[in-house]
Order: sequence, then C-alpha cells, then structure tokens
Amino acid sequence: MKVALRTLLERSVKKMGKGMNPVVKASALEMVERAYNEGITVQISAGYRSMEEQANLYGQGRVYSYNGMNYSNLAKPIVTNAKPGQSYHNYGLAIDFFIVSDDGRRAIWKVDSKWQRVSAIGKALGFKWGGDWSSFKDYPHLEMTGGLSYKQLQAGKKPQLTPKLEKMAMPNTSKGDNLIISIQETLNGRYETNIEDDGFYGPDTRTALIIGLQTELNKQFNKKLDVDGKWGPKTKNATVIIKKGASCNITWILQAALYMKGFDPGLLDGVFGEKTETALFKYQKASKIPADRLAGKVTWNELFA
Ligand SMILES: [Zn+2]
Repeated sequence: MKVALRTLLERSVKKMGKGMNPVVKASALEMVERAYNEGITVQISAGYRSMEEQANLYGQGRVYSYNGMNYSNLAKPIVTNAKPGQSYHNYGLAIDFFIVSDDGRRAIWKVDSKWQRVSAIGKALGFKWGGDWSSFKDYPHLEMTGGLSYKQLQAGKKPQLTPKLEKMAMPNTSKGDNLIISIQETLNGRYETNIEDDGFYGPDTRTALIIGLQTELNKQFNKKLDVDGKWGPKTKNATVIIKKGASCNITWILQAALYMKGFDPGLLDGVFGEKTETALFKYQKASKIPADRLAGKVTWNELFA
C-alpha cells in the first residue's frame, strides 16, 4: 500500500528536530508535499544538529576532541569536513533528504531522475543543493544560507529568509538531457551496464563510462583490467593517449565524458576531429591541467577520478 503523505511529513518533522529555522522547515515540508503530488515519495532524514552531534560526526574517522570531550571514532569512515559550527545544520538552515519506496518502508539512495527532480523542487523553493557543489558532492543535502557564511552565523548573525512557496512552473518532463539519455542507452547496449537512461550525469553513469573504458582497453590494447567501473591506479596507468585523427570507441568515451562535464565535442561519433579537440583543450584549461590537446593519463584521471 502506498505510504500516506501525512506519514512522510510526520517522519520528516521528527527527523528535522527542534531548532529549525521556520522558513527552512516549512520549505522542506512543502518540498516533500510537491514531490508526493508528482508521485515521488521523499523524506527528510536530518535537519537541526547540535554542536555536540556535529562533534560526534566530525570525530568519525578522526582523532578529535571538542570542549574537552573525546569524540574520536576511528572505527568509522570520515563523513564530514565540518567541525561544530561549520555546518548549516548547526543553525537549523540545512536538511538532508532521501527517496523512500512507494510503501514507505525502504530508503533508496540512488541518485536518479527522481532524486534530481526532488533537488530541483528544493532549489525552486530557495534551497542550494549539495549535488551542485564542484568538489565534495553531498547529494542528500539542501541548505538556505541567506547569504551568510558559517563564520557570520557563528558570530551571531541571523539570516533573513523569505519563503518561496508560491506555485512554481512545472516542467513538461522529468527527463533530463536528451544527449545524455542517448549516451546512457549506448552504454547499456554496448557494455551491458544496465543503468537508468534518465538523462542526468550521476555516479552510475560515471561508473558505466569507466566500465566502457576498461572494456575497450582490454579489448584493443590487451590490458588485463578488472572491469569493475572503479577508478584506481591500475586503470589510470592502463589508459592510452587519444589524439586528433583517432577513430574508435575510446574516442567516443572521451566525447561522452567531455559532454557530461559541459564541454561540447560536436557529434558523438567516435571520431576525434576539430570540435572534439577544441572541447578537450577547453576542458584541460578549465581544469588547470596541461592543455596539450591529448587525452592522456592526466586528462583521463581528471575526467574520472
Ligand atoms: Zn546535510
């Protein structure tokens, strides 16, 4: 049986806890409701976090003490780089969300089209999304900063937030970029990667591209790589230099990866021509790696690490 909206809202309120900024809390619940009306069941997993709770999180994977208390917990992996006072959660300005199964019994952590859609609803309501961050991506995270840094918040400044709860325009489709859909379909067809063709560049699509690259390196260059979709030193060292004039599936993978990074290589035809070279050059410059117009170890690593 389908979980009731009321249940999702109640659970979310509980998880957000006391200490939430009222605009952030109302917007979070509005997001849960709007997603529900589109058939997406989503729940808030966290909201306000006290300094002690933050110290506890920061201590995971580290030797750490705070206010004379020992918070070291080396048995667990590092989960955050934010010390107490450095997370917007500490001011009730951030939430985390996850998708739940239709019956409300299972958490689903896959960053797919549903996940992307919830983040889009959140952004329309005024949140900034952790999935848009360039370095450390935090897909469940949404925050409203009111333009204040955590240092200003630590100094006691209060953000002025205005709720954006008016009706927003709904897109015609929840599907993403058409070219990414066709890349995903090609990956599934050629490498049996079985990823969702949702038109968004997420972790699954990246893994599938690496699987493609590993497969081609084994096939064309007799490398003996495990085809596991993981980027490590073995795969990095097995990469070959691809340059203008090349025509092969590895060029196609390069073109697809450049496109996903926002650099248009022209037709995705597996032929390394003028437009692919220009896209590669621009990508190398933007990434501050040697702009040699060759896709070698450094470039492959930048694309996939
Ligand atoms: Zn968060």
